Amino acid sequence: MCANVDGGTLTEYPEVRATTLRNVRRIVIKLGSSLVTTTGEGLNAPLMASLVQQISELMDQGLEILLVSSGAVAAGTQKLQLKEIPRTVSLKQAAAAVGQSYLIWAYEKLFDQYHHQVAQVLLTHADLGNRRRYLNARNTLITLLQHRVIPIINENDTVSVSEIKFGDNDTLSALVTNLVEADLLIILTDTDGLYTQDPRIHPQAELITLVPSITPDIERLGGGKGTAMGTGGMYTKIQAAKKVVISGIPVLIANGRCEKVLHRLLAGEDLGTLFLPYKTPLLRGRKHWIVHTLKPRGIITVDDGAREAILYKGKSLLPSGIVAVEGNFEFGDAVTCCDLNGKAFARGLVNYNAKEVRRIKQHHTSHIESLLGYKYQDEVIHRDNLVLL
Ligand code: GLU
Repeated sequence: MCANVDGGTLTEYPEVRATTLRNVRRIVIKLGSSLVTTTGEGLNAPLMASLVQQISELMDQGLEILLVSSGAVAAGTQKLQLKEIPRTVSLKQAAAAVGQSYLIWAYEKLFDQYHHQVAQVLLTHADLGNRRRYLNARNTLITLLQHRVIPIINENDTVSVSEIKFGDNDTLSALVTNLVEADLLIILTDTDGLYTQDPRIHPQAELITLVPSITPDIERLGGGKGTAMGTGGMYTKIQAAKKVVISGIPVLIANGRCEKVLHRLLAGEDLGTLFLPYKTPLLRGRKHWIVHTLKPRGIITVDDGAREAILYKGKSLLPSGIVAVEGNFEFGDAVTCCDLNGKAFARGLVNYNAKEVRRIKQHHTSHIESLLGYKYQDEVIHRDNLVLL
């Protein structure tokens, strides 16, 4: 356990780790069922306590953490005194409903000791495939982080059926990492990382500490199933890593049972497997999605001040700088921002529909509520949802 097997001949390796993990601020941490639960005995309280303590300490150091935690089905299976993980969909969903509240209750009690608040966030694939729900999920998660609350995310197993399912929390953690544009994804599991062979069958298997790129050979190493409790094995972890490194974000897979694993990983210690990010991602996942996947539904023309602020000062689009609105877009649609000469210079997702923007344009943000009777956000397009063209 926690073997520090040398990755091979890469002499610059420790520096690669240190450089890759430098300036990491927002981290998604995924805990698998094999850690959170003990077979047939419900939640693994001591391990959860240790991980919560580590996460709390990292939060106290100013890091933003989002937790993707499995364990609902396994915990519910034990609570309902079932002999094994249910096979029928409805019983599994019932177990998830029972187990999820138990899981969050346990986290809430543990985080409370460190004066951290938790929020339960349950997602389905449909939430991230639809632009409005995607934006809502993102806004909510970012707002929780701004309030120093730790989002504890799981698949909404109670309502998920095959066509709207992520299927496993490795995939969910990858999509969440891209959704919030985290700086790092850490997948904690019950093995030390990716091995040259399945270590449960081949004792001579060696830990691979660095994966510079996910080649077909690396993907082949992911064969084999996970534990009885979790759905994802190494295969889904590698697929998840693929989705994340492509957006320029590194991924670590490590053993959650290792003492002080999170601190040690972030200190650059040679634990687990590090997947290096693409050096020059085409565009980070979500921005790629904004520019390439979504059809712009309208045009917002802005004055020179707003144009300067967006192009050169990294600012959001506020109502005061808007001079004209074209199209009938809805909340969450992509719109193009043009300057007074009609030249498109940015594209982003709007927090208000066209009618609302027409009403609040040229007004200060403090007037939004009195003009509309409500206010979603100060920004018509938040900087995080804006891509310069
Ligand atoms: N969402 C499932 C649960 O909480 C776990 C899925 C997985 O292990 O990947 O029980």
